[in-house]
Amino acid sequence: MLGAERVAHVGALVVRVRDGEGGHGDILPDATWGVPHRRRRCHAGRGGGWQSGGMTTRMTLADGMRMPAVGFGVYKVSDEAAEPAVAQALAEGYRLVDTATLYGNEAAVGRAVRASGLDRDEVFVTTKLWNDAHGDRAEEAFQASVDRLGLGAPDLYLIHWPAPARDLYVPTWRTLLRLRDAGRVRSVGVSNFQPAHLERIVRDSGEVPVVNQVELHPYLQHAELRALHAELGVVTQAWSPLGRGAVLQDPVLAEIAREHGATVAQVVLRWHLDLGVAVIPKSVTPARIRENLAAVHLELTEDDHERIAALDRGERSGSHPDVVS
Ligand code: NAD
Repeated sequence: MLGAERVAHVGALVVRVRDGEGGHGDILPDATWGVPHRRRRCHAGRGGGWQSGGMTTRMTLADGMRMPAVGFGVYKVSDEAAEPAVAQALAEGYRLVDTATLYGNEAAVGRAVRASGLDRDEVFVTTKLWNDAHGDRAEEAFQASVDRLGLGAPDLYLIHWPAPARDLYVPTWRTLLRLRDAGRVRSVGVSNFQPAHLERIVRDSGEVPVVNQVELHPYLQHAELRALHAELGVVTQAWSPLGRGAVLQDPVLAEIAREHGATVAQVVLRWHLDLGVAVIPKSVTPARIRENLAAVHLELTEDDHERIAALDRGERSGSHPDVVS
């Protein structure tokens, strides 16, 4: 059930948000699959001995939908490689798959989900509208994604980039809201939106995207953007949560990992979750797929968090949203 609606003031911006349902930091034990995990120190190393099957945690989105906090990303995974990788991820206990029109593997994701034996409503599927489909082409592009996935209504449809040079993300957002209102997609959100883009669509429509999926990792911590998301009730979902591997060599993170008997990837993923940030790490290596999900069992200390906070250097591994079109 949705919480009571209230009005939030963000600078000059006035928006409607749902009390008690505003996703940031609201990571709840999964009530649907298995018992809620008990957070404990991570004693096993790389993938060893984890009981991760079927267990995950979920976040409540501003529209009342529940989204797994840990998902499986499939960027740069070919159509052939995506099907076995997603199949393994689902077998390990992942319950969110993040694809996009751009990735060219929506059909493989659909096949893997259908073959998994899981009920459709147990798996949260996200896909995204590519930049060439802003404006008039948005609905057609959405339907093409739905057809390729073959899973009925996607759980989450995102505008992949604001592509400000096209200046069409406002009408595109209106189309997504219309699709949601027609029941053709469960939730709608955005990706790579800077504060100005976010504020513009919220001002225009009075509705917040439930998720803003942005590049985020210890070298790019986005404190200001996360604070705006918290004000608005937008869930922050980190793409390249491992900095595409860049942060995995960091000596401070390596030291924290050593102290916990965990891997650096697990430390980084747990850090995101502690900040209330959802993650969608990508790997096609079975041991890493398992290892990444097992990060939910790790418990970091305040001191660990202080040391990781100090690593922020505003360093991107991907493109800046202002220039992508
Ligand atoms: P990532 O941070 O998940 O890093 C992936 C890299 O780290 C790969 O090279 C992988 O082999 C390696 N890796 C993964 N787990 C590891 C482990 N445990 N130990 C060692 N190495 C490990 O980067 P990503 O793939 O760019 O991002 C994740 C997902 O985010 C993508 O698959 C995609 O779904 C999404 N994404 C979205 C956008 C967007 O614009 N919305 C952009 C990029 C990615």
